[in-house]
Amino acid sequence: MIAGKVVLKKGKEHSIQRFHPWIFSGAIQTKEGNLEDGSLTEVLDFKNNTLGFGHYQNGSIAVRMLSFEKKSPDVKLWQHKLTTAIQLRQSAGLPSKTTKAFRLIHGEGDGLPGLIIDYYDGAAVMQAHSVGMHLYRQEIANALKETMGDDLKVIYYKSQSTVPGKLRDAELDEYLHGMGVVPHVIPENGNKFYVDWEEGQKTGFFLDQRENRKLLGDYAVGKKVLNTFCYTGGFSVYALNAGAKLVHSVDASAKAVALTEKNIELNGFNAEIHKCFAVDTFDFLKGKDGEYDVIILDPPAFAKHRDARHQAVRGYQRLNAEAMRVIKPGGIIFTFSCSQVVDRQLFYDTIVSAAIQAGRSIKVLHHLTQPADHPVSIFHPEGEYLKGLVLYVE
Ligand code: SAH
Repeated sequence: MIAGKVVLKKGKEHSIQRFHPWIFSGAIQTKEGNLEDGSLTEVLDFKNNTLGFGHYQNGSIAVRMLSFEKKSPDVKLWQHKLTTAIQLRQSAGLPSKTTKAFRLIHGEGDGLPGLIIDYYDGAAVMQAHSVGMHLYRQEIANALKETMGDDLKVIYYKSQSTVPGKLRDAELDEYLHGMGVVPHVIPENGNKFYVDWEEGQKTGFFLDQRENRKLLGDYAVGKKVLNTFCYTGGFSVYALNAGAKLVHSVDASAKAVALTEKNIELNGFNAEIHKCFAVDTFDFLKGKDGEYDVIILDPPAFAKHRDARHQAVRGYQRLNAEAMRVIKPGGIIFTFSCSQVVDRQLFYDTIVSAAIQAGRSIKVLHHLTQPADHPVSIFHPEGEYLKGLVLYVE
């Protein structure tokens, strides 16, 4: 049901006509009707022409666009967006014989701002980042069931830590369809992983590193590999299955280290070839000069907001300089940043500063990003968040 209208200031219609999905509060001339957080609103230009419809929310981003059509959306909207998203994944070869887990809805990239759905071989984990998506969760779940049919056994709604403020006071996480048994095993490029969407970070697994983990395999054959910020041990498992000589995994969280150990065992490896350390990466790197041929640096977002950007850049610089300093001559570093506010150029410049600080000769072998199941709308470049470089350190 359409709860009200938002009329934009003159000139503020242009970005919406170019399909940018956000309307900032400063672009709004007037509001009409009963607009509350999460209500569906019509959006009009200053001449009262309909530009589309979206979810209203008090805050800097006041409307998240769901449709750029004149006709008001109905329940079919969800099914239409889900079908389009599934087609996109199929065209990218997902799922495949060896990979049965992928991101099914990537917010703005799939025309559904505020919504994430990860698919883990029969189970969908839904996460709302806006009040609107939270309010429509059951409708979305119903559309998901209809679209995916019997392939979908479970829908788990996990938004306790992602929905805005006040909503978090209530218990939110629940099964909207079926009952899952966790941990659940997924195949990814033939590697096996346990996913625990109830207890794990985010939706339970970081699907965005799939292609980068595969590339790491090519560099890990016969090598001594250090995987820092390992979480579930994704890079570690790929390195071992590819034929690494030895892999060490590091994470500050004891829970993450336990998860990594379980995944290593699941893939048939033991403590002879793999060791886990529950310590801070910065501490671990001290005194490790010349021990590793390959080092992976995949830290959590050091900056979640613009104000924290400077501090984050210093963190990336210090971390990378230290890894560049200790790695064996001829070694390879896979380095990443998932901070949205640190863009590709800034990340690159930060790595250059780290190289200067480390004083070693370094070459860039690959520029990495997020995979096709984390699409970026061409009109919403903010959607690109994962940046990576593969470096050769002489
Ligand atoms: N590389 C992982 C995802 C990393 S998520 C993958 O492919 O799935 C980031 C991880 O960094 C989290 O598990 C968190 O516990 C860990 N972490 C955060 N700060 C850390 C620190 N200073 N040292 C080591 N680990 C840290």
